Amino acid sequence: MPGKSTITVHADRSIHPDRAVVPPIYQTAAFSAHDAESFAFGATEARGKDFYTRFGNPNHAQVSAVVAELEGTEAAMVTASGMAAITTAALALVKAGDHVIGQKSTYGGTASVLKNLLPRLGVSTTLVDQTDPEAFASALTPQTRLILVETPSNPLLQITDLRAVSDLARAHDVITLADNTFATPLNQRPAEFGIDVVWHSATKYLNGHTDVSAGVLAGPAAILDQIWDTGLLTGATLGPIDAWLLLRGMRTLPLRVPRHNDNGQALAEALETHPAVSRVHYPGLAGHPQHKLAAHQMSGFGGVLGIEFTGGYDMANAFLGHLNYARRSASLGGVESLAVHPASMWRGMLSEEQIAESVPLGLVRLAAGTEDTDDLVADALAAADTALTEAAIA
Ligand SMILES: *Cc1c(COP(=O)(O)O)cnc(C)c1O
Repeated sequence: MPGKSTITVHADRSIHPDRAVVPPIYQTAAFSAHDAESFAFGATEARGKDFYTRFGNPNHAQVSAVVAELEGTEAAMVTASGMAAITTAALALVKAGDHVIGQKSTYGGTASVLKNLLPRLGVSTTLVDQTDPEAFASALTPQTRLILVETPSNPLLQITDLRAVSDLARAHDVITLADNTFATPLNQRPAEFGIDVVWHSATKYLNGHTDVSAGVLAGPAAILDQIWDTGLLTGATLGPIDAWLLLRGMRTLPLRVPRHNDNGQALAEALETHPAVSRVHYPGLAGHPQHKLAAHQMSGFGGVLGIEFTGGYDMANAFLGHLNYARRSASLGGVESLAVHPASMWRGMLSEEQIAESVPLGLVRLAAGTEDTDDLVADALAAADTALTEAAIA
């Protein structure tokens, strides 16, 4: 098995080969067939690549080949965003009367699927404390069909025991889906711990340049075929140019992730002892309550950290305003540092009650880019100093 840097450069070579060194962009909505038989084949082939772009495109197939090999799964597919990936998967795998288990600490959009979308369709859901494997077992009912996990979680960086959840699910014929956006397959491969389907907001680290919205799903072909069929109906198709950009971004994933890991670790260690900071949530810190579990299932801890400020909402907001490198933005995983105040960002997606349940109001999510470590650390410490001084004056 080649290494991950080799995989990201070569795993798509046999998919729709061309003599151009870089694959062309197949900017077409449809492909022609030579005869009736091949037309009929294209219309029914699961995860095909040259019938009609909503059904598949060579640029999709190339990205999918790389993702499947990186995640160590049989197959992969792409969607127009991370949310398209999880919503299409959920619609494909459950029906009215079924039950789904998710986490209390999870991406806001996923939380909304669990709290609003699925219940409206007659699917009941239970959100559990992911740090307690027993909580998943207690939530299980005879109607449970899916368990959705996310580790590390957004934005609290809580860890889910992937092996414990997948063992439980397998014993009860339940399908598991893991959001691997924060870890990337460089730091964590959930399929190695028995998770069935791995999904990503490829908008984040996989693409890594904050210029594409995309999602990926990776898992056994039989399950992906089901999701694919529903994807034909939801129509959340990734544009060929965006698939091409995503593949181009992924070529350097194994070069970028170690720098994100270094920057995340350095920022977490530097901010942990700052007087403006009450707590840093980062799984690479020895003091993270689940550090041992994180070190067991991850080989690096990523570039995202949660910083809680002693002065609540206002101090968190002031810190963000004083950062010179990290800009205030909802995304993460790109080469540029970005930071966000989740309590204000989620106002449109969740009720005040739902926000208070999932995030402390003084929490900042800082996503370290690939800038020089010393520059990011100095900038964050200076911003924290200023935020503290201002709070003392006020
Ligand atoms: C951004 C994000 C999503 C949603 O992905 P989109 O590409 O924005 O639709 C899902 N999960 C996590 C962990 C994310 O950070």
